[in-house]
Amino acid sequence: MDTKRTVLITGAAGFLGSHLCDRFVKEGFSVIGMDNFITGDKKNISHLANHTNFSFIEHDVTEYIKIDGELDYILHFASPASPIDYLKIPIQTLKVGSLGTHNLLGLAKAKNARILIASTSEVYGDPLVHPQPEDYYGNVNAIGPRGVYDEAKRFQESLTMAYHRFHGLEVRIVRIFNTYGPRMRLNDGRVIPAFMGQVLRGEDLTVFGDGLQTRSFCYVDDQIDGIYKLLFSDYSFPVNIGNPTETTILEFSKEIIKLANSNQKIVFRPLPVDDPLQRKPDIALAKKLLNWTPKISQKEGMKITFNYFKNLSIEQLHRKNHKDFSSYNKR
Ligand code: NAD
Ligand code: UDP
Repeated sequence: MDTKRTVLITGAAGFLGSHLCDRFVKEGFSVIGMDNFITGDKKNISHLANHTNFSFIEHDVTEYIKIDGELDYILHFASPASPIDYLKIPIQTLKVGSLGTHNLLGLAKAKNARILIASTSEVYGDPLVHPQPEDYYGNVNAIGPRGVYDEAKRFQESLTMAYHRFHGLEVRIVRIFNTYGPRMRLNDGRVIPAFMGQVLRGEDLTVFGDGLQTRSFCYVDDQIDGIYKLLFSDYSFPVNIGNPTETTILEFSKEIIKLANSNQKIVFRPLPVDDPLQRKPDIALAKKLLNWTPKISQKEGMKITFNYFKNLSIEQLHRKNHKDFSSYNKR
């Protein structure tokens, strides 16, 4: 009999999902990756293709999910995550957070598995409390363009807690703050790949608004470690995982110019609707509960990430078109 513990990871071909697959394979789990590639890339998991502890199912999680055999854990990370992605595929974003989560909770219940779902700092919207602790209810515009993501994630949390309370399902909820690192899509529009792609192509850096809005960036290895610890904790309510080092986007653009040793200019563009003015995690709970704090400094993490993008092919660097979502939008 196989005694290896089995984990299903949705969004496996995406940025965070692929790093989670690596971590769980490394820890000796039998990992089943699932993805429909809507924003992900096969290349992110190609190195695992022949690994005996890894298998992959191409599937849209908003459709009924069938898994043969036992499952011990589920990590639900499938969802568009970049503002330009979820603005282009708003309905798929709402569906994966609602119908997709419902399917995965049902699967967890059927298999008696523990499930961890990927929530986000966007549940706090444009926060009026700073930094954001888990007991802050947020300031979200449900009907604005970002509402499709924020409300999908808020519904996801609500549904997950209902399964916990009503069915006694073992659940974990991670509220992820801006995370970056290798395998992000260079053209996914998020600020770090956007600025790094711009300096590498010799283009001006596009700062939205006056650039005084803040973000707090967490390096991927720290994020994965926090998620791993949360899964094996006994806490069912949401936990923030992020790096509290806060910076303005303008300051940050200057740091990237410095890091790249480039003399590109900064140009200002309109601030997207409902773009949060400030964001910084309060991580007191994660520290206490998980004995977790981020270890990798922004300087170190940025250097690793910049080197990753620098080593992409010329073709990848200049592929400026965003992903083609036309076939999904017809559905
Ligand atoms: P990503 O776009 O790189 O990965 C998401 C993956 O989910 C992609 O591979 C995509 O193809 C897949 N997917 C989407 N819809 C699907 C569906 N219906 N069926 C199957 N697969 C589907 O994004 P990411 O940054 O890796 O984010 C992963 C998760 O973490 C998301 O749930 C996101 O909301 C959450 N999150 C990420 C961040 C961050 O800073 N990276 C911050 C907050 C929350
Ligand atoms: N941003 C920017 N220029 C860009 C891309 C993003 O100034 O080319 C800003 C964006 O307006 C936001 C911040 O950078 O204030 C972070 O944006 P991102 O899309 O990475 O994620 P968000 O934190 O808004 O979800």
